[in-house]
Amino acid sequence: LSDRLTAALQTLTRKGRLSDADIDATAREIRIALLEADVALGVVKTFIARIKERAKGAEVSQALNPAQQVVKIVNEELVGILGGETRRLNLAKTPPTVIMLAGLQGAGKTTLAGKLALWLKKQGHAPMLVACDLQRPNAVTQLQVVGERAGVVTFAPEPGNGVGDPVDVARRAIAEAKHAQHDVVVVDTAGRLGVDEELMKQAADIRDAVEPDEVLFVVDAMIGQDAVTTAQAFQDGVGFSGVVLTKLDGDARGGAALSVREITGQPILFASNGEKLEDFDTFHPDRMASRILGMGDVLTLIEQAEQAFDQKQAEKAAEKLSSGQLTLEDFLEQMLAVRKMGPIGNLLGMLPGAGQMKDQLAQVDDKHLDKLQAIIRGMTPAEREDPKLINGSRRLRIANGSGVTVREVNDLVNRFFEARKMMAQMAGRFGFGGGGGGSK
Ligand code: GDP
Ligand code: MG
Repeated sequence: LSDRLTAALQTLTRKGRLSDADIDATAREIRIALLEADVALGVVKTFIARIKERAKGAEVSQALNPAQQVVKIVNEELVGILGGETRRLNLAKTPPTVIMLAGLQGAGKTTLAGKLALWLKKQGHAPMLVACDLQRPNAVTQLQVVGERAGVVTFAPEPGNGVGDPVDVARRAIAEAKHAQHDVVVVDTAGRLGVDEELMKQAADIRDAVEPDEVLFVVDAMIGQDAVTTAQAFQDGVGFSGVVLTKLDGDARGGAALSVREITGQPILFASNGEKLEDFDTFHPDRMASRILGMGDVLTLIEQAEQAFDQKQAEKAAEKLSSGQLTLEDFLEQMLAVRKMGPIGNLLGMLPGAGQMKDQLAQVDDKHLDKLQAIIRGMTPAEREDPKLINGSRRLRIANGSGVTVREVNDLVNRFFEARKMMAQMAGRFGFGGGGGGSK
């Protein structure tokens, strides 16, 4: 094939929608990436199906190759799922706010209690920790230690009273919190190595006793696929309103995040990434998405390609604007672009001095655009380049040729001259382009 033919074929495939072949090829890569990140198989399947659906409807991008474009869609979708409905902690209208922690043993609940306490303290709260894990001998001491490190009060059953009743402890703790004016209470609970009935019942009893504003399901990111069954069991057994992912400092790619989110529909509120109390942050969907995808380099490339493309487009436009060389062809292109962008009015309203343009664009509906397009197509290339050539008799010819009135042709030509003038002024004001401009 000659170079020109190859190029032509390439532009052919680059028009319209993304091809099924492009989508399938990239979807296979994504599938592997997700499985490697330990996302549960069922979740991977539904996710990929959704991505394919969305990619099929997508217009081919001029800035990205098809593979990059699919990856971009996947990333957006991931960020959306992980961050959808992300919210802050629910605080009670009448303090104390009660936050209950639930999860398997070793998930990081007790450590999290200390982290949360420190974090809340920094936000101006006066938290209190409550030791409701009376299952393991040293669990209470462990909570007291992290409480001390965080500099907060820990409520625990008096030593020497034998194994207390966690429900009773929880109840007394809330009363004490009210009395001592703690506005947030963090209730640490017991966990087992595996999901078990008795544990669930105890957690549910504590829940009923303290009526928490939040039940946070704490899950170790390293457990990967098992996150699905565990999350499901806790959702059925206790119910929770939010998720905390722990041990993200390990080498897990974080597939658990996607699985838990997809299976339970509950938002991920926080992320733990170390044993120290400071190793803790609110959850960042974008970081997690790129970690799960494991395609950080590709994502960076995509960003750069898009930026370079936008830059090139902007430079081209600025050049034309500042030299007053805007043609009718450009004019049409701009309006088509504007239509694609949807409710442009708001956007333009934010630009200084763009009020007039906003009014003009507001009049442009689809029917109108089709008409404009017909009129412009009815002109000779020379006329499109330089509308000054369009005299009275030409206007009549164009009107007849495109099935509109002479007045409509006049309208368009006048609007064009107006727009060109306005854009040149705006170009001057924003300082881009040549002449006296101070461009960056
Ligand atoms: P619990 O049984 O749910 O209360 O879990 P713990 O809070 O006792 O934590 C179990 C172990 O995991 C402890 O050794 C913690 O130091 C450790 N741990 C907790 N959170 C993290 C974390 O985010 N990163 C790492 N590397 N270790 C953690
Ligand atoms: Mg514990």
